[in-house]
Amino acid sequence: MNRAYIALGSNLQEREQFLMEAVELLKTHSEIDFIRSSNIYETAPVGYTDQNDFLNAVIEVETRLNPLSLLDYCQKIEADLGRKRVVKWGPRTIDLDILLYNQENMKDERLTIPHPHMHERAFVMVPLADLNPEAYISALKKRAEEIVRDLPPEEVAGVTLWRGKIL
Ligand code: ATP
Ligand code: MG
Ligand code: MG
Repeated sequence: MNRAYIALGSNLQEREQFLMEAVELLKTHSEIDFIRSSNIYETAPVGYTDQNDFLNAVIEVETRLNPLSLLDYCQKIEADLGRKRVVKWGPRTIDLDILLYNQENMKDERLTIPHPHMHERAFVMVPLADLNPEAYISALKKRAEEIVRDLPPEEVAGVTLWRGKIL
């Protein structure tokens, strides 16, 4: 069995609904076992500030899918949830990024693991460190909580606990 961490983010009006629906769809796959979720965090958008605040969470799964098949399924969920609301809310309702897959390092045109920007994003690292402070990013030779400690404090402070585990 393989262990993967997946980051979820949504900044549309029914944001928590999108997080929950994405987790429900992950759970329905026979080759994916949901293990647990981080708390849900709220993050002001970085860069493009003219948009809603994000909700972010990280979940841990066990899976028999290989990394690319797991990506395929994550993208199917993004498409399914996006398509449902495409007219009203626009195409980006939910983002599912694979952060870690065992201790593998891979770089494919479709998939880079560990996720190439995870270590520089407080909105990813704070929920990951909440879920598993010991999660080890071998490419950086650092644990999640060490990476959070090394991020700019104002960015970490911008990721606030929104609600406990509803996932
Ligand atoms: P970012 O990857 O910087 O967070 P994004 O999530 O907004 O940006 P998407 O539009 O969701 O970007 O995905 C763009 C492409 O990233 C996808 O088509 C996918 O093939 C690729 N990709 C590469 N590595 C990963 C990964 N670890 N998890 C998910 N997608 C990945
Ligand atoms: Mg992303
Ligand atoms: Mg993505």
